[in-house]
Amino acid sequence: MARYVIPSWDLPALPVSGTGALFPVRRIHCVGRNYADHAREMGGDPDREPPFFFAKPADAVVPDGGDIPYPPQTQKLAYEMELVVAIGKGGATVPRGSALEHVFGYAVGLDLTRRDLQAAAKEKGRPWEPGKAFDKSAPVSTIRPASEIGHPSSGRIWLEVNGEVRQDGNLSQMIWPVPDIIAYLSQLYALQPGDLIFTGTPAGVGSIQRADELRGGVDKVGDIRVRIV
Ligand code: MN
Repeated sequence: MARYVIPSWDLPALPVSGTGALFPVRRIHCVGRNYADHAREMGGDPDREPPFFFAKPADAVVPDGGDIPYPPQTQKLAYEMELVVAIGKGGATVPRGSALEHVFGYAVGLDLTRRDLQAAAKEKGRPWEPGKAFDKSAPVSTIRPASEIGHPSSGRIWLEVNGEVRQDGNLSQMIWPVPDIIAYLSQLYALQPGDLIFTGTPAGVGSIQRADELRGGVDKVGDIRVRIV
């Protein structure tokens, strides 16, 4: 087998509850504006337009309990608490009716955002990567297998900063539920095992500072705790 010309690295990976094993992360897809109240607070239209997607690099994942260094080149680091879908079986143009067969399990994650850089990109019609796809921008909890918890379509989604509730929504408020997200996303990309999908955030997004402690979760899925350092 050919050697690499520079030292290789371990695959980004997340622990899976009850298994002692890891889920290898291939790609991170993210849905924009998937809760009507958040679409409104961002100045958008909550009508049921088709979902849109952006991405983060796989090595942006940070497992539960990790420290997140305050990222460079921003004055406005924002949190977005989200349900995360872990894809176990690949597929292109997956029908909505069989979409959940492609799900290995679920986790919760934070779509950390350099909001000022994202706003500048939107204004100039430039790519979102500087605002969304930076180092350690995707803290994700331990994954719970769907074989254990099923496929949650309702349940509280919440986030506290320093013990104060900032986001408090319900998965049932999603504009596009998980099967629709998978159906749309798989028309754009052939989904692969190891892909994660961030499914959007409810209202209440805001900024965070160094030394802030974030704790959030989704009922029956799990929770995550990270600290900004
Ligand atoms: Mn988001």
